[in-house]
Amino acid sequence: MDLDHVKFEDSKPNRIGMTYILYGGLKYYQVRHAIFCKFCKDTIESKDIYDFKMCSCRSVGIDGGLAENRIIGDRDNYENRSMYLARVNGKKYWLPEN
Ligand SMILES: [Zn+2]
Repeated sequence: MDLDHVKFEDSKPNRIGMTYILYGGLKYYQVRHAIFCKFCKDTIESKDIYDFKMCSCRSVGIDGGLAENRIIGDRDNYENRSMYLARVNGKKYWLPEN
């Protein structure tokens, strides 16, 4: 599932990403802030607010962790690899689903 093409019922956006997504009646909270560089194929993740990383070809970067969700670089140059999690009665539901 490609998050860029999912139609959400509701979401709470911060600067770039989303802190939660309402989808299929469930509220999914962001648990991973990551992107995939289309040029060097690196997946980079920012784990907290001061965790800044660039991909190896330096086309895109990521920063800010879950709190700020900053992404550096052109939108056409990366794919969103963030993950969202909903918990219902002890069961976990992920977005994307795999
Ligand atoms: Zn790269």
